[in-house]
Amino acid sequence: MAPIPDFPSKARAASAPRILIVGGGAGGLQLATRLGSTLGRRGQAQIVLVDRLPTHFWKPLLHEAASGHRDPASHTIEYAAQAKRHGFEFVQGELRAVDRARRIATIGAVVDQDGTQIVPQREMHYHDLVLAVGSVTNFFNVPGAARHALPLEHVGHAEDFRKKFLAACAKVNHLADAPAPSPARPVCINVIGAGATGVELAAALRHAVGQLAAYRFRALDPVRDVRIRLIEGAPRVLPVLDPRISERTQAQLERLHVDVLTSTRVARVEEDAIVTSSGERLPADMTIWAAGVAGPAMLRSIDGLALSASNQVIVTDTLQTPDDPHVFAFGDCAACPSGASSAYLPPRAQVAHQQAVYLSQAFARRLAGKPVAGFVFRDAGTVVSLGQSGALYQADLRVSARSVIVDGPAAAGLYRLLYRKHLSGVHGIGRTLLQTLGQVLHSYGRPSIKLH
Ligand SMILES: Cc1cc2nc3c(=O)[nH]c(=O)nc-3n(C[C@H](O)[C@H](O)[C@H](O)COP(=O)(O)OP(=O)(O)OC[C@H]3O[C@@H](n4cnc5c(N)ncnc54)[C@H](O)[C@@H]3O)c2cc1C
Repeated sequence: MAPIPDFPSKARAASAPRILIVGGGAGGLQLATRLGSTLGRRGQAQIVLVDRLPTHFWKPLLHEAASGHRDPASHTIEYAAQAKRHGFEFVQGELRAVDRARRIATIGAVVDQDGTQIVPQREMHYHDLVLAVGSVTNFFNVPGAARHALPLEHVGHAEDFRKKFLAACAKVNHLADAPAPSPARPVCINVIGAGATGVELAAALRHAVGQLAAYRFRALDPVRDVRIRLIEGAPRVLPVLDPRISERTQAQLERLHVDVLTSTRVARVEEDAIVTSSGERLPADMTIWAAGVAGPAMLRSIDGLALSASNQVIVTDTLQTPDDPHVFAFGDCAACPSGASSAYLPPRAQVAHQQAVYLSQAFARRLAGKPVAGFVFRDAGTVVSLGQSGALYQADLRVSARSVIVDGPAAAGLYRLLYRKHLSGVHGIGRTLLQTLGQVLHSYGRPSIKLH
């Protein structure tokens, strides 16, 4: 008797239904890995992951990449290698269009940096299409915002920001270091939006300036020469969390010399300033927009998909679109009902992760002809990092009307665990431990920030 191959033969895989997952982010990579390792390896389904990029970087680390605390090169996962290890296929390219009647997805051409085409546009048939394309920055049509404010959606944006930030620090350091120092205006960095992303970024930048002054820009006075403003339209920072977390976070940010402006709406963004709705003009060398997300514009081009006001794909509790059971959506790009309330689940890695686990089980049950229950989100709490100043964790327990709030080393440890949890979902525990050890050894004796 011939041995059973651990990977389906081409003929067997070709006849199996194809599950096409588009987007290998926090949710999509977990789903492809789980389905590939189970249905894919057994030849029960052909699992294909499509992403516009060749590598994965966990998005919640982007503010650390932007501040220089995390080198993206040491934290990316090659989709092709992951695919080989876990029984799925990886195709690079951007989803351009979907013909739902013929169940065909069009994947755009891949071009190199010079614009030369490497792979032409392709059409891929699917049995089930899973949209996990994440979100893009929502500039809320604020004049000048899309043109002058930087978004933080992927590693490219984080690197662009980091280079501009380094250049601005180098310039002000040079002026301060001149034999007859000129009274230079401080570098002004405006972070718009004091949700978790904005708060984490502002804190990380403040720590980064201190470290850059210690290592490289010795004439730079971190507080005098670099001004960091965090601007929020709501009356408090972290407006969706418990007011006690907002208070503690604001106090901590102020200790870090971050200027926190609440109840301040941005009316216009210009090249060198932002203008508030009360007409105040705040100088800006760099403005970064962290005030909200929306579904990617390409979703509008898929005929017949119902979209929410934030351009997310409306799905039922089985994460299928109401009109087409062969199209699924989850993570940031999906508007998924949140149980009793009429609101949708928030765009968070935790939601994307739980939905990936749910979908991997749901696909297995569907293939086995078993009934599938709806997705239920279990909120494990929210943790907000303030970099070296620690972290804050909020959990809403069913037994108490008041949220539980934890800060100090326990919350900081929890924050660090989130990334390791993501890694163990894609690599397994053993490999994650080895990688963590490697990263710790690699960082030993090196500066805690990227200096160039
Ligand atoms: C700075 C920052 C900090 C954050 N911190 C936290 C946190 O602490 N906790 C938390 O829960 N959440 C956090 N989030 C939110 C979290 O990152 C997202 O909710 C999560 O990444 C969503 O996962 P996803 O799989 O839906 O999308 P993503 O992780 O964004 O992945 C989308 C993928 O789709 C690919 N893609 C996009 N368009 C196409 C296309 N047309 N064709 C092919 N591929 C495409 C992209 O390349 C990407 O790989 C943070 C976000 C940011 C920006």
